[in-house]
Amino acid sequence: MKVNYDIVSQAGLYIHVPFCLSKCGYCSFYSIKSINLIPEYIAALKEEIEYYRKTFSSFDTIYIGGGTPSLLTPKQLAEIFTTINKYYKIDKNAEVTLESNPGDISLAYLQALHDIGINRLNIGIQSFDDRILRFLGRRHSAKEAVASVEAARKARFNNLGIDLIYGIHGLGMKSWAETLQKAVSFTPEHISCYQLSLDDKTPLYKKYLSEGWHLPDENTELKLFLTTAEELENAGYIHYEVSNFARLDKFKSRHNQKYWRHVPYLGLGPAANSFLDNKRWWNKATVNTYLKDIACGKMPVEDSETLSSEQLQLEALFLGLRTKAGIDLKLYKTKYGADLLKDKKTIIDALIKNKFVELKNGFLRPTREGMAIADSLALI
Ligand code: SF4
Repeated sequence: MKVNYDIVSQAGLYIHVPFCLSKCGYCSFYSIKSINLIPEYIAALKEEIEYYRKTFSSFDTIYIGGGTPSLLTPKQLAEIFTTINKYYKIDKNAEVTLESNPGDISLAYLQALHDIGINRLNIGIQSFDDRILRFLGRRHSAKEAVASVEAARKARFNNLGIDLIYGIHGLGMKSWAETLQKAVSFTPEHISCYQLSLDDKTPLYKKYLSEGWHLPDENTELKLFLTTAEELENAGYIHYEVSNFARLDKFKSRHNQKYWRHVPYLGLGPAANSFLDNKRWWNKATVNTYLKDIACGKMPVEDSETLSSEQLQLEALFLGLRTKAGIDLKLYKTKYGADLLKDKKTIIDALIKNKFVELKNGFLRPTREGMAIADSLALI
């Protein structure tokens, strides 16, 4: 079965920057502190960029994520963009995002980013409270968080995203509401709010165990989720995906929507994933193996899988029910060859009855309560 890319025809490009100056207590992503390897990483990345020129021809979104991409200098980033532009056609209205850390981004740095064509800045603020930042093991302060947002505006970023974390031990509803209000006061175009979840290998998890702390129970989690959605919707934001809010439709992350809709994307750098023609492949995770493979003239692909119709259907269901737009049933049938309403009639009827999903104008959509339990909804 071939997927018809009818929603967004152009692919997205993701570049993973696997360096962080320190490890945040809750983070289970792969990253290393050896920033002396950055020049070698960039040289390898440029080869990887060139390698895929016959598989992909153009992109209309570029997302530089990490790790901490703001550890790269504007000159290093410009070098990456020059290589991308040499081998691919980049749409003139492309969304070009960079993830950044508040402690790294001075006004001069941000102005340079703007000048090299980055038009969407995402700042990993996580909290405006120093106590929480220390607890999470972030290396920036609340003052730096505020300064980074102000600098981004001065540097003319008019598509600005803020990431926040909630569900933290000792952070009550009142404190979370204050953080949200502070975020809203800067009128960022995009806000992502993630509930803290702890991988058992993270330092924070070990701290939770040893100090007898606890994550919020299910009811508190639900209350936090609903309060977040309500506060941000009252402030004029569209709750377009479980964790994501945008001030206007045009500020929804175009790049992330490709992941949710089975649109092709190329992922470069250690641990990055790619998707094309029902096939997914992913790179080796460590910087050393990545560099070693490229130095030997081979691509650092760890493995790949071809998704069956059933896997694609399930993914589309899982991802679609995490979004406010929901699932376009006609499109689902055309793309995946399955009649969702017929195949899952009993369970969908039950979900509608319990007000977790609704059927409207040919779409199956999660309600706000449904979004709160989106992960379980997909198990239907
Ligand atoms: S900056 Fe981001 S990627 Fe790096 S350790 Fe912290 S949370 Fe993880």
